[in-house]
Amino acid sequence: MDFKKKITEISKKVGDVATDTYNTVADKSGKMIEDTKLKMSISNNKEKIDDIYRGIGRTIYEQYKDGEDVGKVFTKESKKIEKLFNEIEDMNNRILLNKGLRKCETCGEIIAKEAVFCSNCGKKQKPIKVKEEKKANSKDSKEETVKEIVCPQCGTIEKVNANFCSKCGYDFKK
Ligand SMILES: [Zn+2]
Ligand SMILES: [Zn+2]
Repeated sequence: MDFKKKITEISKKVGDVATDTYNTVADKSGKMIEDTKLKMSISNNKEKIDDIYRGIGRTIYEQYKDGEDVGKVFTKESKKIEKLFNEIEDMNNRILLNKGLRKCETCGEIIAKEAVFCSNCGKKQKPIKVKEEKKANSKDSKEETVKEIVCPQCGTIEKVNANFCSKCGYDFKK
């Protein structure tokens, strides 16, 4: 399955999941605001990807005229697209997590965030890493730091430097 098709499918799944596991009203509205923001960023990224797709021919020609290595230009543009796709994937994962769900890294099945094993492929799940975007100095470059991790055994959210889950004792370092 190609990358774009995969992302579209995941986005569809995220939209389809009707069950939510929000605990309190405040929790729910906070998460809904976050979800809305994430969904907006996802469509922003999709527009940026389409712009690069559309402009790539002209960009390559212009750089060729300037005597640049077109292969390098093409790779640079493709990497921009890849980065935007990866950001979409991260944001979709964040939306899933807000619904109490996660995606199996091996087969892509949507499972409960507490699931120890994937119900589809049986793969043991790794702790979820919750990323936070920090604005770096320059306008375009965004620095990403992992802020929290989610215990794969019980779903408890811990600080990223935690060694063990405070609820079930899961060993994050193993
Ligand atoms: Zn799986
Ligand atoms: Zn735990």
